[in-house]
Order: sequence, then C-alpha cells, then structure tokens
Amino acid sequence: MNGLTEAVGSFALTRLVSRKSRVDFERWQATALRRFLDRDLPRAPFYRHAPARLTDLPVTDKALLMARFDEFNIHGLTATQAWAALARDGRAGALTVGASTGTSGNRGLFVISEAEKYRWLGAILAKAAADLLWRGMRVAVILPQNTGLYDSARKSRLIKLAFFDLTAGPESWREELEAFDPTVVIAPPKILRHFAAENFRLRPTRVFSAAETLDPVDRPVIENFFQLPLDQIYMATEGLFAVTCRQGGLHLAEDSVFFEFEPAGDGLVTPLVTAFRRQTQIMARYRMNDLLRLSKEPCRCGSPMRCVDEIVGRMDDVFRLMSQDGQILITPDVLRNAVLKADRRIDDFRLVQTGPESIELSLAPTLPDDAAVAAHQAARALLEMRKAVATVKLVRAPLPLETGRKLRRVECRLGPAR
Ligand SMILES: [Zn+2]
Repeated sequence: MNGLTEAVGSFALTRLVSRKSRVDFERWQATALRRFLDRDLPRAPFYRHAPARLTDLPVTDKALLMARFDEFNIHGLTATQAWAALARDGRAGALTVGASTGTSGNRGLFVISEAEKYRWLGAILAKAAADLLWRGMRVAVILPQNTGLYDSARKSRLIKLAFFDLTAGPESWREELEAFDPTVVIAPPKILRHFAAENFRLRPTRVFSAAETLDPVDRPVIENFFQLPLDQIYMATEGLFAVTCRQGGLHLAEDSVFFEFEPAGDGLVTPLVTAFRRQTQIMARYRMNDLLRLSKEPCRCGSPMRCVDEIVGRMDDVFRLMSQDGQILITPDVLRNAVLKADRRIDDFRLVQTGPESIELSLAPTLPDDAAVAAHQAARALLEMRKAVATVKLVRAPLPLETGRKLRRVECRLGPAR
C-alpha cells in the first residue's frame, strides 16, 4: 500500500534525522533543499525562471499565493477549482484541498497529493508520539474543520483516529469522544480548557495544544486537569512547523522546512518558511504571520533541530499606536503579561485595539472588581510608559467559548499593516 509506505518512510526519516549532530543535520538539510530548488520548485509556473539561490527568490505571503494560486501548484489548479472542490468533498482528482479558518477573503487554501498526506501523518506521529505507536494508539483530533488530511489515517492498522468538528460545539460530540477514550488528544487550548471546566471523562497519556497560540494562562489549568505536561503542535494551513519533544522542547520542523527569520523587535522574529519536502504546492520564502521567540540553548533531548521558547502570537495582533515620536508597536506578549501580572485571579481576558487610539479590555463579571481595576490600571500604565496616545475602556462582560473562530486574547482590529 503506497500510502502506508509513505507514512512509514516519513516516520523512519524523521526519527533518523533527529539523531544527527547539528553539523551533519545541516549538511543533510542543505542537500535536501538543493534538490528541492533544482527539481521541484521550477515545476510551479511562478518559479519557471527563478534564480538558483534560495536567498535570491522573492519573499511570498498569503495574499500573493491566493492571488496567483494556480502558478504555485504544479497541476495548474485554479483557486476557483480549489474552492469548488472544497465545497464538495475536498477532492480535486487525486489531490486533497483544504483551507484555513478565518474571515472570508482571508482564508488560506492548500492542495496536497496523497503521498504528501501520508508523509505529513508519518512525520506528526514520529514527532508527537513515536513511543505510543506500538501500543494501540487512539488519537482524537479536535480542529475547526475536516481538511481531508486526517481521513486517510482512519484506515490505518497502526492507529485509530477520530475527528471531532470543533465548529459543531463540544456538547454535540462529548459522549462519542468519551466513548472513544483517546490516548492522545490534539485540540486548541480553549477546547482543552473547556474539557477541564466541564470535567470531561478523558484519560489520555499525551495532550497536545494545536491550531491556536497557547497562552501561558491556559497551561496550568489544562495540566492540572489532565495531570500531564501539555505539549504543542505548531501547525497552520501552510504545514507542520514545530512539535514538542519528550523533554518539553518545542522543536522547529527543520527536517521538512527551511527557516529564515526576520527580526520583529523585542527579541522576536517572524519566520520565512521554505517547505522543501512539498512537491504539489510550492512554498518558498513564505512569510508567516507568527511572532516567535527562539531558544538560545539547545534542547536536552539531543535533537539537532532548533527550539522555540514561545509562539507569542500573530504579527497582525501587534498594537500599532501613536506617540509624540511617531508610531510605536507593542507586541501581544507584552500586553498580555501586563494584564495577567496585575492580579493573580485573572485567568481570562480580551484586549482589543479597536481604533488608532482606542483599546478595549474585557473581563468577566465574575472577576472581583479590585482585580479588574488593577488590570485596567496596568494596561494604562504600560501605554503611558511607552508614551502611547490611547484610551483603555474597561468592559465587564462574559467571555464565552467561541468555536467558530480562533481565540486571540490580544487582538488588533485595525486591518493589515503591510
Ligand atoms: Zn528536545
């Protein structure tokens, strides 16, 4: 069976590569990247006359990829055809089409082959739960929508995989999930937290936060409930980018992606990714919207792949404010920490930049007034310290579980910066 061979091959390669020294790993990666640039990349029309060196290629982003979708995949599939396929069953001939959630006009499309689908699965399993694979693994994946990526796995003998549609709401599949009794749970942090709040009967041996930024405020709640360390899978429409190892290090998936980094201030970076094992939709020097803090130290586990200390949030959610000296930027982590450090009782909030000079801080009515006042003052003090001209409005309102969109506690609603 071709698919299984791909998955096992990918699994084995992922394991093998993770045992190399950094020097050997970089040599292996350079060879793989070279092969991709010579053989795979020029097959997409956009790159027909591309320069040979990676660093001479143009930087790409979602807007460009969506505007010229057909030029970035080797089959010339148009965006219109891809959307039509997605509206049916996500199949376009032998290809699988998927899309990210988001506001209309802002959704990202992707197209992958059967082989790539299995390769992706093999890599995830090798990184996420290799030691569980031979013990009858039951994996529950709870994500916004069925992208078609996971269908294949259900048929495999090695694992049982069940998909639960986040948009349908947890109460609609709670019984089914509990009966499935997963050993591995992969879900956005707000859902893992919801399991804790509603006391779902689950006893997994591994829990992964995926698809949304893991806010430090959610971690203890989830870890206490499951009595397990919480791991992370950093993935997006664009692929799989990092997975937590058994020592707790969040390793970049450098065995399938070549990373370049652009500085974003405050010691943070945004990645440019080149997915050198993807052959259907070419992604080269693609600018991600995420803000990362890279680790300075290598991980204890010995993997040559670099680690990320924290995925801080999205570039889009950096607050853009005016001061007497011109525009200033405040990153989501700084804003979040200001609110959380104001009072230990605060374990949820929303901080939204609603206009060029206006910010709204929302806190649940159940939070004591003095804690809310402290948070309000902390947010204002931060702005004052940065000399930003803005007012912060305090709103006391329930913060309900929203399953239709990504949770962003710190959010900028000004529209694109670039
Ligand atoms: Zn590690």
